[in-house]
Amino acid sequence: METRPLKLVLAEDIEKLLDAIGLLEAVRSGEVRCVRCGRIVAADDVSRIEATKSSYDLTCGADSCIELSRRSEGVADANR
Ligand SMILES: [Zn+2]
Repeated sequence: METRPLKLVLAEDIEKLLDAIGLLEAVRSGEVRCVRCGRIVAADDVSRIEATKSSYDLTCGADSCIELSRRSEGVADANR
């Protein structure tokens, strides 16, 4: 198992964070999709928030998406 630290945020803080970046209402309304698999992300299903030039990319809590997020660290813009 890898032991490097993950950037985790407590569930209640995710809502605060989403609110702070103006996405809480959109997430609650089911308007925000996972940037990796495309499924709708619920507030308690957010595993990662990445700032982009104009907005934020949310990643859901699916194992495959978390894995993709980890792999893309440091090369996040490589395939855009
Ligand atoms: Zn996903």
